[in-house]
Amino acid sequence: MARMGDVQFKEGWIPRTKGCDTYGCWQPDGQVLINVIPHAVDTILHELLHEARPQYSERAVRSIVGKLLKKMTEEEMQTIYAEYRRKVDQD
Ligand SMILES: [Zn+2]
Repeated sequence: MARMGDVQFKEGWIPRTKGCDTYGCWQPDGQVLINVIPHAVDTILHELLHEARPQYSERAVRSIVGKLLKKMTEEEMQTIYAEYRRKVDQD
């Protein structure tokens, strides 16, 4: 954890490759880029599915959301994240 003080963190979008997300990236200049969008969208869809289908098990929810994320486009991911940000920022 002491090492965190030496590293500069930035948030930013890292493009998807073949439906897979890169959650973070260490850069040679010592910065670490964190892609918060897939973390947030994964959680948003997960919790919305619990809301819509309370009878589904945790395992089922994770499985469905995992498949859904692989099929989503970058634009869809960014749209969900933007709507989430809009709602969070207005509260
Ligand atoms: Zn859950």
